[in-house]
Formats: sequence, structure tokens, C-alpha cells
Amino acid sequence: MNEFLEQCRSAIGTQYVIDESADMAGYLTDWRRRFTGKALAVLKPGSTDEVAALVRLCNTHRVPLVPQGGNTGLVLGSVPDESGKAVVLSLTRLNAIRATDLINNTMTVEAGCILQTVQEAASAADRLFPLSLAAEGSCTIGGNLATNAGGTAVLRYGNMRDLCLGLEVVTAQGEVWSGLRGLRKDNTGFDLRDLFIGAEGTLGIITAAVLTLFPQPKARLTALAAMNTPEDALRLLTLAQGYCGATLTGFELMSDFCLQLVATHYPQMKLPFAQSSPQYVLLELSDNESAEHAEALLEHLMSDALEQEVIHDAVVASSIAQSKALWQLREHIPLAQADEGKNIKHDVSVPISDIGAFISRTDALLADAFPGCRLVTFGHLGDGNLHYNVSPAAGEAGDALIACQADISRVVHDSVDHFGGSISAEHGLGAMKRDEIRRYKSPVEMRLMESIKSALDPLNLMNPGKVV
Ligand SMILES: Cc1cc2nc3c(=O)[nH]c(=O)nc-3n(C[C@H](O)[C@H](O)[C@H](O)COP(=O)(O)OP(=O)(O)OC[C@H]3O[C@@H](n4cnc5c(N)ncnc54)[C@H](O)[C@@H]3O)c2cc1C
Repeated sequence: MNEFLEQCRSAIGTQYVIDESADMAGYLTDWRRRFTGKALAVLKPGSTDEVAALVRLCNTHRVPLVPQGGNTGLVLGSVPDESGKAVVLSLTRLNAIRATDLINNTMTVEAGCILQTVQEAASAADRLFPLSLAAEGSCTIGGNLATNAGGTAVLRYGNMRDLCLGLEVVTAQGEVWSGLRGLRKDNTGFDLRDLFIGAEGTLGIITAAVLTLFPQPKARLTALAAMNTPEDALRLLTLAQGYCGATLTGFELMSDFCLQLVATHYPQMKLPFAQSSPQYVLLELSDNESAEHAEALLEHLMSDALEQEVIHDAVVASSIAQSKALWQLREHIPLAQADEGKNIKHDVSVPISDIGAFISRTDALLADAFPGCRLVTFGHLGDGNLHYNVSPAAGEAGDALIACQADISRVVHDSVDHFGGSISAEHGLGAMKRDEIRRYKSPVEMRLMESIKSALDPLNLMNPGKVV
């Protein structure tokens, strides 16, 4: 392998081939610090041609490679296994914004660009790049595409697949496919772009992308509404879509227990209602007319919802600071749950209309099988996507719960399957759910996925052990 590493050094420069264990450490452990793998080296190419040269070397020497962006993935997709045979291919040096086209409303960016940098560049050009998620200061466009990331505005703008008009990819053989055409219409055969998006680095390496930009909204307005049940939240969603149409950009459900956890662990964060309610919805409108227009829409919506007894209270943020404070309640739920102790996370989706039934059924099944466990249920209700997380009974450390992790996840995932849902709505499969997915996809679906993998990556060098 010395010869391989020497050739890598000649291809991209000695300082970009890292093989000292102390220097590699940060690339080998996943975001949640649950797993640390081993690698032959971390390679940091600076251009698409250098990525291609490295992939060809990996082919020659049969070295597996694990693409990595910001390493914020949550399913162990971006870290190598324990064999020490693979290299980590870090894309972070490919961080140029290559072009902005304000008529086509597109921006061509390299895969290692940090999401927040792209949002800021779009904003500086008086446009919006709408992908938004809590890891946006660290995650990269390449990782966002490879996981088909979702976030808080999918309801209006779609997920990463919907925000991409073209890709540049280094194939598993080390060739460059340039599909950076930025076309909105192109029906000329198989959609290769859609194959690489969401493939988690198992089919090729994304090196650049054409992203779709949108007009900057003139006003953003946030509100929090209190209601009794998830079904009431769904009734509010239908009302909100009727009143607001495309202006509705966020619709997040949070149970009372979620907000109580935030209040306990972050007492400086004030809950806006004097009395608690079983469920809450955080809504966001992005209005292309004016703040007054957004306020009028929300006022009508909320008074109608109160009159119809869909909700029993609501607050509308009257300043950017108040709006941030409401979003912070939502964003602190995972942190507060972690502060509370060990827990088991699920990132699931079901048809939106089944959300209420899914929550009631799964809550009852878990209460029966694991008495006392506490459910931290929140998520992107407008997309049918829930973070259905399980915490131990009050006062318990959580070790007993973690020992039952497989059984608990089986109950949740089987219930998701009962409603025709998905066991990974946003985060992908990685190494964590690779085996689990076989229970829920049909043999035909699995065979099709395996055929695509072996056709594009016959040597199985691209992120092996992940997805399929
Ligand atoms: C606090 C927090 C909040 C999050 N919120 C959300 C959320 O709301 N919605 C959501 O969808 N996700 C969310 N995530 C998950 C994560 O941020 C996303 O999956 C993100 O898109 C990953 O980007 P990354 O650059 O960190 O990718 P990495 O973690 O480095 O990699 C993720 C996967 O993509 C592959 N990959 C990376 N770059 C490339 C490339 N250039 N070419 C091919 N394959 C590549 C890797 O091999 C790996 O399989 C969150 C994570 C955290 C830590």
C-alpha cells in the first residue's frame, strides 16, 4: 500500500494525503460519536480532475473509498469500517462557487461548499437557496445531495432532489460525467442525476451541482398554535394550505413533552403559553408580497382555526427575535432530549393523513411492550416526517432501554410499515439501516437496487457496506 499512497501524494500533493492516526481521527468518528472506524489514509483532493485521478488509483490498487463532506450524517455513511483498508475521500477542498445565473435562477457550486455559505451567496445575489437544517454550518452540498437532505422547508420547496438541476460526478471507474446543464426539461433517457442523488456515495462521487434559486421572500412570519391532538394539527394544516397556498413554508409538530424537556434543560427559553396543551404546531409563512399580507393571512387562518375549535391558542411572532425564539424551541428538542439521557431515535415518514393514527397506534404498542418509556415526538408534519424518539422512564439512566433498542425499533418500524411508510425519511440508510431495510423493501426492489450498484460499481469500491 506504500506504493498506492506514494502515487496519491504525486497526484494531489503530499500535504493532502493524511496517514498519521492523530491527524485522521476527526474523519473517522461519526457525528454522534457512536462509532470510530479505521482508514489507510484521508485524501483531500482540490479539483474534480484530482478526484478522478484518485478514483483511478483506487481502481488499480483495489482500495475502497468513503466519500465525506461535513461528516454530519446520522447513519454512519461517511465513516469507514474497522478493517482499515479504505481511504476517506474528503471533498471539503472543492469549495468554489463556479457560477451564478440570475436569469436561469441557478448557482453552480462545488460539492465541498458548506450549505450556509451557499445560502449566504444566494442571499447576496438577492435570491433564496431554501435548503435549511440544523447542521447547515457544517454540512456540504455534496453530502446534502448524496443523502437527498430535507430540512424545514420541504413543504414548499421540496428536498435536495427537487433543488438540483444538474450534477458533475466522478464515476466508480474514475471518469468524469459532466451533467451541469441546468435544464428544467430534459427527457433524453434515464435520469442519471436522480441515480446519484440519495445514493450516499455508493455509486459515484458528486463533485459539483447546479442548484435552483428562488426569489427572496419579502416577509417571513412565524406562529405557534396549541391544540389537543395530532389530528387537530392535520386539520390546521388543511386550513393553512387553503388560506396560504405556497406561502406556507414550514409546519412542524411538537408534543407537549418535547417542550417540557426544553423548558427543563434550557430554563432561559420561555414557553409562550401560560397553560400547556398536548400538541403544538410551529408554522412559517414566506410571503412574496409584504409583511402586512402575511399578517393578514395568519390572522384569518388563526381566527378561523379558533372558531372551528381546531386550536385553542396561538401566538404570532411580532419581531425577528421572537420568530427566532420560537424556532429555537423546536431546534432545542434534540439537545434537550440528549441532556435528559440516552434515547433511541427514529426518522420515519408515513402518508400525512396517517400521522395521527400512526402516533396513537405506535404509542400504544410501545406503552404495552416497554411500560414507562417516554415518547419525544416532533417533526416536519407538513411532509409526513416524524422524529419518533424514545426516552427511558423518568429517573432511569437509559441503559435498560438501550439494551432493548433493536426490539423497540422493530415495533416502530413495523408500525411505519403498517401505514406504508419509510423507516428513513431524511437521513438515509448508511451502515446503520442497511440490513434493516431488507425487512421492508420487496425482493424485487432490493434486486433492482443491487443491479444498479453492480452495474455502476462492479468492483464494489464506492462506500462499500453502505445502503446495499
Ligand atoms: C444537528 C443535525 C441536524 C440535521 N438535520 C437534518 C435535517 O433536518 N434533514 C436532513 O435531511 N438531514 C439532517 N441531518 C443529517 C445531515 O446533516 C445531512 O444528512 C447532510 O446532508 C449531510 O451532509 P454532510 O456534508 O455532512 O455529509 P457527510 O455526513 O459527510 O456524508 C453523508 C453521506 O453522503 C456521502 N457523501 C458525502 N459527500 C459526498 C459526495 N460529494 N459525493 C458522494 N457522496 C458523498 C457520504 O459518503 C455519506 O454516505 C442533520 C444532522 C445533524 C448533525
